[in-house]
Amino acid sequence: MSDERTKVLIIGGGFGGLFCARRLGRADVDVTLLDKSAGHLFQPLLYQCATGMLSIGHISRPLREEMARHRNVTVLLGEAVDLDPGARRVTVRRPDGSTFPIGYDVLVVAAGMQQSYFGNEHFAQWAPGMKTLDDALCIRQRLFAAFEIAETLPPGPDRDAWLTFAVSGGGPTGVELAGQIREVATRTLAHEFHSIDPEDARVLLFDGGDRVLKSFAPSLSAKATETLTSLGVQLHLGVHVTDVDGDGVTVTPKGGGTVQRYRARTVLWTAGVEAVPFAHHVAAALGASADRCGRIAVEPDLSVPGHPEVFVIGDLVGRDGLPGVAENAMQGGLHAAACIRADLIGRPRRPYRYRDLGSAAYISRGNALLQVGPIRLAGLAGWLAWGLIHIAVLTGVSNRVSTVATWLATIARASRYHRAFMLEGDRAQSGRFTWSRPDETS
Ligand SMILES: Cc1cc2nc3c(=O)[nH]c(=O)nc-3n(C[C@H](O)[C@H](O)[C@H](O)COP(=O)(O)OP(=O)(O)OC[C@H]3O[C@@H](n4cnc5c(N)ncnc54)[C@H](O)[C@@H]3O)c2cc1C
Repeated sequence: MSDERTKVLIIGGGFGGLFCARRLGRADVDVTLLDKSAGHLFQPLLYQCATGMLSIGHISRPLREEMARHRNVTVLLGEAVDLDPGARRVTVRRPDGSTFPIGYDVLVVAAGMQQSYFGNEHFAQWAPGMKTLDDALCIRQRLFAAFEIAETLPPGPDRDAWLTFAVSGGGPTGVELAGQIREVATRTLAHEFHSIDPEDARVLLFDGGDRVLKSFAPSLSAKATETLTSLGVQLHLGVHVTDVDGDGVTVTPKGGGTVQRYRARTVLWTAGVEAVPFAHHVAAALGASADRCGRIAVEPDLSVPGHPEVFVIGDLVGRDGLPGVAENAMQGGLHAAACIRADLIGRPRRPYRYRDLGSAAYISRGNALLQVGPIRLAGLAGWLAWGLIHIAVLTGVSNRVSTVATWLATIARASRYHRAFMLEGDRAQSGRFTWSRPDETS
């Protein structure tokens, strides 16, 4: 390839980065797609992986495989750690800790958000978030291990604490997780234990607002509340989780009042998001402003003010209240690619216009919500629409086929076929593998 071709570096192979790279796949540019993980992750189905319905293979696809047909796209594994805008160079850390530089003419920052604990980072050791495959596998381990531990304990408060699951955050992810845990308890595990009755599992869902799923119409929120309650999820609204430790959560009413303590050996955190560390670095290096969560302010064309060669797309965009949803990231990726193509032929860039194609949330088997403009669906109709949309957007034909097959099998039987989980002991064993060379370990 000639050195004169424009070099586009895309950081992040999530929805935004993937769509941008695909659209540039046949353009007269050399594209490097960099991600710190090797696969594109379909985050909307993470909770199904966490609760044993789907495997990690169903919801992720190797970026290298995804881009194999695009000869002008190079896929690299590594974490962007430093940006030198003067030299137009990004420093990348390999998985073994060593670093290398990548130069660019155009930079597309699509690195997304991570879980936020609102400054209480110590909560993370007790309460995994829900953003990565590691998170999903950690939740799966804690969920199924909790029932196993409870089975070995005599009746009493300790056993009850192992059978209590606290979920912080009543957005789509918290609602989906809470509903799924009750389904695991009442269907999947219902007849598998002798000492405990899994149906006794309590699922507590905490949220600071006055209703769950605030981004949905009140009528759909009400439907979700009804379904969750009938599943046995206990809703605690208007409260903030103000402390988390190995034994449970402390909850404080939003307007002040009596602080409550709930014993729960499994706590899951879905309450907030913040920009990934590299985004803070980008904002500082480019002198760009960012909001409280680290979203970067951009021009109407999604470029950083004063840096037309740097685009920010997806969840990281801080403009016009653009939502943190997959559709915004995909459209942003296509838009950045269109601007890059326009620059190549000397056409003016167009401003970014987000088209809201609606939102959906899964509550339980046969129950989901869908909101598209004036259309509101709940129950079975919402569930069917939810399934069709997710299958249409899921990456890779084989992932689509196997996901549908797994869903049908799960519907036909109560089983979840991807419940396998690892315990700490197994992880300690794997400690014998290292990235270091022998001379570095001595
Ligand atoms: C559990 C969950 C459920 C969701 N459900 C829905 C839903 O039902 N509908 C919906 O529309 N949206 C949903 N979303 C939101 C949606 O997934 C996001 O809006 C979307 O993924 C944002 O795309 P993005 O490209 O901005 O970032 P992401 O998809 O998060 O991708 C960012 C990528 O950047 C990589 N990265 C980060 N830092 C670096 C670095 N320094 N160097 C290299 N690579 C880096 C990451 O590994 C990742 O692959 C959900 C999100 C979650 C977490």
